[in-house]
Amino acid sequence: MPKTQDLVWSDWRSQLQHRIQTLEDLQQWVHVTPNEAEAIRASAGKYRWSITPYYASLMDRDDPNCPIRLQSVPALQEFQFFPGAEPDPVGDTVYRKTNRVVHKYPDRIVLLVTEVCAVYCRHCTRKFHTTDLEGTYFETSEAASWEQDFDYIASHPEIRDVLLTGGDPLTYSDEKLELIISRLRKIPHVEVIRIGSRYPVLLPMRITPAFCAMLEKYHPIWLNTHFNHPKEITPEAAEACDRLLRHGIPVQNQSVLLKGINDDLETMRSLLHGLLKIRVRPYYLYHCDNVTGVSHFATSVEKGREIMRGLMGHTTGFAVPQYIVTTKLGKIPLWETQVHRDEQGYWLENYQGEILRLAKSDGY
Ligand SMILES: *Cc1c(COP(=O)(O)O)cnc(C)c1O
Ligand code: SF4
Repeated sequence: MPKTQDLVWSDWRSQLQHRIQTLEDLQQWVHVTPNEAEAIRASAGKYRWSITPYYASLMDRDDPNCPIRLQSVPALQEFQFFPGAEPDPVGDTVYRKTNRVVHKYPDRIVLLVTEVCAVYCRHCTRKFHTTDLEGTYFETSEAASWEQDFDYIASHPEIRDVLLTGGDPLTYSDEKLELIISRLRKIPHVEVIRIGSRYPVLLPMRITPAFCAMLEKYHPIWLNTHFNHPKEITPEAAEACDRLLRHGIPVQNQSVLLKGINDDLETMRSLLHGLLKIRVRPYYLYHCDNVTGVSHFATSVEKGREIMRGLMGHTTGFAVPQYIVTTKLGKIPLWETQVHRDEQGYWLENYQGEILRLAKSDGY
């Protein structure tokens, strides 16, 4: 383990203070390749990068294709041109109603809390907002008053589900988060408050008993996190999820299908089974969007469907996430349909490719 003077491993603020942000820092953890070093130099003035000592401790010192390194160390492909790539292909900015509210579906909204993350995942779907030094989805600034955002939610009674995301909302202190959550709880039509946070994976020490006890006062609170690889399921991450669960906060997982990281059945299966072992429910498997600076992680849709075919029916039903693509028209399922229809009724296909007929003449 490298020199980490004054670092208190179990203290999340100390982890943040000691984030790895220079080539020299990173060299203490891994044998940095010439390509990685060049990408780090190219990132200056363009893309943020930073890695918590905790997340860096999961890296393979010698293998530049280590899934932790691929997700967190800058790569030259981020600067390559890819046809069709856009900063905001899912249209967050199109549906933004106030500085922080993205209102795309009638009954639920995204609340962009911050632009900041402890680790800037190279594949971030909001890369323009989080990682790009010149970009932001905020209309004004992160520091702007929240009154307009709260007013918008309060004056739209159809909003029953509010999702705090960012960046990573848990970058904020418990006090600041409690101000936000308690305000939302005072709005009678807000039934569910959801938090999207990758800190169980990137900074599990952030999930303190005090934080969980604060959240518990405002139930129903749900938390969606973002494990992409079985290597990320460590005892610390498991403990963070367990703490949330013991405070009554259901923890679900949203993975992104990433080339060279989890785009094979064996890795995906081991990720999903690992999640069940720590009582985290797989929710979504996102197809990687064609986001500027992220396109090199994208796989084919056929690859994703092949993985889904290898999962459905072959493992525990609730280990299987929904494979979806996020678009300007919302999230759309991509996995193979197993229902075929003709004049005689339905033809169903099971997980082994066997066909079953449900005939119209039998009442189907
Ligand atoms: C994903 C998303 C939601 C939540 O969608 P669910 O399918 O309910 O998880 C809400 N608003 C926006 C803008 C989103 O992108
Ligand atoms: S933690 Fe989430 S919001 Fe932050 S960079 Fe990673 S994927 Fe993006």
